[in-house]
Amino acid sequence: MKTFCGRANPTTGSMEWLEEGEDYDYHQEIARSRYADMLHDKDRNVKYYQGIRAAVSRVKERGEKAIVLDIGTGTGLLSMMAASAGADFCYAIEVFKPMANAAVKIVEKNGFSDKIKIINKHSTEVTVGPGGDMQCRANILVTELFDTELIGEGALPTYEHAHKYLVQEGCEAVPHRATVYVQLVESKRMWSWKKLFPVRVEAEDGEKILVPPSEMENCPGVPSVCDIQLNQMPSSDFTTLSDVVTMFSVDFSKPVQSASTYYRVQLEPVKSGKAQIVLSWWDIDMDPSGMINCTMAPYWVNPTSALQWRDHWMQCVYFLPNEEPVLQGEKLLLTACRDEYSVWYNLQKAREEENKSAEEEHKADVHVESPVCRCHAHLLWNRPRFGELNDQNRTRQYIKALRKVLKTDSVCLCISDGSLLPVLAHYLGAKQVQYFVLFLHCFFKANHLEDKIKIIEVRPELLKPSHLEDKKISVLVGEPFFTTSLLPWHNLYFWYARTAVSTHLASDVTVLPQSASLHMMVVEFQDLWRIRSPCGICEGFDVQTMDDMIKDSLNFRESKEAEPHPLWEYPCKSLSDPLEVLTFDFTRTVPQHCLSTEGSVNLLRKGKSHGAVLWMEYHLAADISVSTGLMQIPDEKGNCEWNPHCKQAVYFFSSVIESEILSDPTAVTYAINFDTKTGEIAMDFKL
Ligand code: SAH
Repeated sequence: MKTFCGRANPTTGSMEWLEEGEDYDYHQEIARSRYADMLHDKDRNVKYYQGIRAAVSRVKERGEKAIVLDIGTGTGLLSMMAASAGADFCYAIEVFKPMANAAVKIVEKNGFSDKIKIINKHSTEVTVGPGGDMQCRANILVTELFDTELIGEGALPTYEHAHKYLVQEGCEAVPHRATVYVQLVESKRMWSWKKLFPVRVEAEDGEKILVPPSEMENCPGVPSVCDIQLNQMPSSDFTTLSDVVTMFSVDFSKPVQSASTYYRVQLEPVKSGKAQIVLSWWDIDMDPSGMINCTMAPYWVNPTSALQWRDHWMQCVYFLPNEEPVLQGEKLLLTACRDEYSVWYNLQKAREEENKSAEEEHKADVHVESPVCRCHAHLLWNRPRFGELNDQNRTRQYIKALRKVLKTDSVCLCISDGSLLPVLAHYLGAKQVQYFVLFLHCFFKANHLEDKIKIIEVRPELLKPSHLEDKKISVLVGEPFFTTSLLPWHNLYFWYARTAVSTHLASDVTVLPQSASLHMMVVEFQDLWRIRSPCGICEGFDVQTMDDMIKDSLNFRESKEAEPHPLWEYPCKSLSDPLEVLTFDFTRTVPQHCLSTEGSVNLLRKGKSHGAVLWMEYHLAADISVSTGLMQIPDEKGNCEWNPHCKQAVYFFSSVIESEILSDPTAVTYAINFDTKTGEIAMDFKL
C-alpha cells in the first residue's frame, strides 16, 4: 500500500502529494496526533477509571464474568484499567495499525497480555463466536470515540453496530450517557467568522461601501464544525441570550440509532438581542447514577469548579442560518438536526395556537439538509479568514498604504487568494486593476465592478503581455494571503509570484508590501506544552512506549520544523523580547542563495522555555505594518496578545529549561535558515 502525505509547496502556492517510503509508517499522523493530549487529560482518565471499576463491580455482583469490549483502544489504556478492576477478559479493538502495534507492546509491558487481546480491525469487521475474533459477546462496552462535536468521529454508527453484533443486551456501558448542551448568544466577533460585513472606504469622491452579494448574505455556510477553546473567549466578546439548555442525550447502554434525526427544545431568551450563534458542548456520565461526570462546560457555566485543560475536546460554535432578533421572554424553538457525523442548528419563533402542540405545528418545517455553501465564499474563506477580512483595523492599514502608493494612472496587479484589495485599489482610484487567481465573480457583480477589475485565471509564471493589454504593472499588491499556506512564511509565495511576473513590472514599480520580516520570541505556555510532552506513567500504567513512538515520529521528518497554532487560544508568557530574525525584500526577486541567520536571545523572565513562537510582519509602506503574530509588545509580566485571525508557528524545544534565577542571565541560541529553493524554514535552538 502506498502512503501519500499532503504538503503545501510555498514556492508554487499549491498543494502537493508526496509519496512516502516503506519506512514511513504514519509518522506525520502520530507526531500530530492527540494521544499525548488524551493521556495528559487527568480528569478524563480518573473518571474513566472510576466508571470502569463501577461497571465491572456491577457485573460481578450479578455473578457474571466481566467480558469487556474496548472499541478504539489506542494505547490500550481503558482495557488495562478494566483488567486491573478485575475484568475477566478484554477485547481491545484498534483500527489504526501503528497504534494497535503499540497497544500490544504496552499491554505486554504492563503484564496484561493474558487478559487483553488486541484486534487490529475496524469494529464493524470484528467477528464473534467460536474461531472468531471474540469468543462471545461482551457485557461491558468501553469506548472513547468522541470528538468536540461528540459524534464527528463516527461514534453513533460504531455504537449502533456494536449493540447489534458485539455486546449482550443489557450490557454496561462506560460512558453510560452523553448529553449535549447549548446556549444562544449574540457575538459580533463570532458572527464575523461567517458573514462578511460591509467594508467602508473613504475615497476622494466620498465614502464607498463594499457590499456582500445577496447570495452570500443568505448562504447557510459550510457544515464543518467550528471547534475552539471557548475558555479563551472573554465574556466581553459575546452576550448570552438564553440559559444553558439540554439539547439531546444518548444512552450508550441501549441500542443506538445513527440515522439522521432532529431534536427540538423551547427556550425563552433571558435578554433581547440578535440571536446569531449557538454555543455547544457536552458531558459524559460514566455511570447510570450520573455521579461520575466529565464535562466540557466553559468557564462561565460552573465558575467555582476547576477547569481541566484539554485540546482533544473543546467547545463548538454553530452559526444560525440567519441573524434573528429575539425578545426577552418570547417563546423560541431551537432545533438541532444531525446526520451520522455532524450537527447543525435552526431557530424559529414559536407560534402559539390552540389545539396543536408546538411540536406538531413545526414538524413539517424542520430543515433536514445540512448547510451547503451556495455562494462559494465559505469554501474559499475559512472562518479565521472571514474574521480577518472583517477586521476593520487591518483594512484601514491597507487603505492607508494603498492611498500612499496609488495614482490615478496606476496599473495595479493583485496577487492573493480571495482578497478584497483589488476592490479597495479600484475605489482608491487605480485606473486599471488586474487580479490573479481565486476570486468570487458574484462579489464583483454585486458591486458593479465586472468591467473595472479583470480576473486573470492563470498561474503567475504563465502571465503574458496580452493579459495586461500590453501594459506594464506600476503597482503590485498582495496581502499576502494564500489558502494553501500552513505556516506563516508560506505566504512568502507572494515573493515567488512577484519574481515570476518580473518582466511585466514597470521599472519604477511599487510593491506593496515592500518587505516582510520574520519575528521570534521564546515563550512559556500555560498548557499547550502538554500536547508534545511525554506522559510516562498514566494512572499507574506505563505508557512510555507511546512517548517513544511520538518522539520517533517527531524526529522522522518533522524535526527542525515548526507547527501552526492559533495562539489566541493557547495563552503563553513571553520569556524573551520579540526579535526580528530575517527580512525578505519584495522589491527584489527571490535570491538564489539561502537566507540564514544565527544569534542568541536573552531570557528576561523566570519560567519554563517550552519553545519559540515565530510569525511574519508585512511592511506595507513606510511606517505602515501589519503583524500576523504579536499585536503589541508583551506587558511587564510577559502577557501576550496575538493576532486572532492567524496561526503562528510554534517550535517546541526538545528539552525544557527552567530559569528560576536570573542573576546569571540565560540565553537561547538559534540558527534559522530560509531555503529559497523550497520556501521552507529550518531552525535549530540550543539552550
Ligand atoms: N481508548 C484510548 C484511545 C482513544 S482515541 C484512550 O482512551 O486513551 C480513539 C481511537 O479509536 C483511535 O485510536 C482510533 O483509531 C480508534 N477508532 C475509532 N473508531 C474505531 C472503530 N470503529 N474501530 C476500531 N478503532 C476505532
